[in-house]
Amino acid sequence: MGQNNVPFWESKTLEEMSSKEWESLCDGCGRCCLLKIEDWDTSEVFLTRLSCHLLDKETCRCRDYPNRHKVVEDCVSISPKKVRSLSWLPESCAYRRVDDGRGLAWWHPLLSGSSKTVFEAGISVQGWARCESTVAPDDFHRYIINDFDAD
Ligand code: SF4
Ligand code: SF4
Repeated sequence: MGQNNVPFWESKTLEEMSSKEWESLCDGCGRCCLLKIEDWDTSEVFLTRLSCHLLDKETCRCRDYPNRHKVVEDCVSISPKKVRSLSWLPESCAYRRVDDGRGLAWWHPLLSGSSKTVFEAGISVQGWARCESTVAPDDFHRYIINDFDAD
């Protein structure tokens, strides 16, 4: 809690949060760990339901978070600037919600007290993502999905 028992996600901007607060704001949905395909001609980015090979599809957490950039070169670190500029970051992402002034949803672990509510609400990639390593790169385009902004 911040000043006057106002939670930090309501009293601070993204830039003002400590690294511990910042990390706890991630709801663990795993959506940002889905593979994106970029059209070289148009630069348009398409989202797929293929998950990064480091993502644990059950817990929806990175299996090697501290070393992720050594293993997956193009893993994107979410920052306040990126929250405002990445078109593929879902509307449900807690960073986007807080930055937009929409607050956290009931299923966010910081409100519910349980990491399971993100699964129960159907917000995470649990149960429908497929690991990229099980698909030939030439077939990645078959897994393109429309935006998933159920919120
Ligand atoms: S989309 Fe946002 S809330 Fe979900 S895992 Fe990624 S950073 Fe965390
Ligand atoms: S390396 Fe980890 S954090 Fe980065 S995209 Fe893959 S699973 Fe997600």
